[in-house]
Amino acid sequence: MSLNWDDPRLAAPDDYLVTALAADGRVRLVACRSRAVVQEAQRLHGLSPLSTLALGRFLTGGLLFASSFKEEHDNLTMRLDCSGPLRSMTVIAEGDGSCRGEIAEPQLPSLVDQQGRLAVRAAVEGGRLTVIRDLGLREPYVGTVPLVSGEIAQDLISYLYHSEQRPGVMFLSVDLDGNQVHDAAGLLLEALPGVDDALLERIEQRVAGFPEISYWLREGFSPAQLMDLLMGDPGIHLLELREVSYRCRCSRERMRRNLAALGLGDREELAADPDGIDLICHFCNRSYHFSQTELGELLP
Ligand SMILES: [Zn+2]
Repeated sequence: MSLNWDDPRLAAPDDYLVTALAADGRVRLVACRSRAVVQEAQRLHGLSPLSTLALGRFLTGGLLFASSFKEEHDNLTMRLDCSGPLRSMTVIAEGDGSCRGEIAEPQLPSLVDQQGRLAVRAAVEGGRLTVIRDLGLREPYVGTVPLVSGEIAQDLISYLYHSEQRPGVMFLSVDLDGNQVHDAAGLLLEALPGVDDALLERIEQRVAGFPEISYWLREGFSPAQLMDLLMGDPGIHLLELREVSYRCRCSRERMRRNLAALGLGDREELAADPDGIDLICHFCNRSYHFSQTELGELLP
């Protein structure tokens, strides 16, 4: 089913992800709006403004990365570990457009750069990014790169380039009004085989003069139009639109399986507690209570 520019979903205020080809199929473009995704992450984790920026950008980048998945169950896990106060964050994004994430420090203070703007980089300092792609094959693909920027978008692009030899450009924006998420979006451009130096130079020039995407969104442009604005190519071919959302997949059964997978000594220790145990999901903060009787049933 082909997607065209008149599709009302492209101009709707809802979250979505759209893919396209440009420059005669030599450039792949992905754009998404992730406002509701970031709002949900902020609500679930009680995030401060800087923590919202950091996890919101990471979630949006995960959605862009997962855009190439063909199967609903294909998924990727991205983990950032750093020496700054942010410490770590994790995002899981799946082929069905869902994502979820966690951040070690939900209440990061408002660290700013020299222009007085909130700076994720200031909370990250040095560190590394690990990406695990699970495409249902026997072994997942794992790649790790050192962080080069700390502002997330460049770090994800550095990963694509060094770990998967895919050159590209990424823009990530979480636009805050105070602590309210006004909008959030991402834009990814990937050079495909067949890109020549002249085209790369033209792309570099356009990227250098491209304003932050929050500017375009505040001017009323849609995420799909960002692809057009960046490339300036009348022959952009839209491919696919999918909904994206923040969705946790935890369940009582999953939590029970995690408990059952513990070593016997740990299970015996848990079963000795008359109060049972409360397990909290890191991605949605839902709490699951297991009584002493239930814990006893996990023993041989
Ligand atoms: Zn959960």
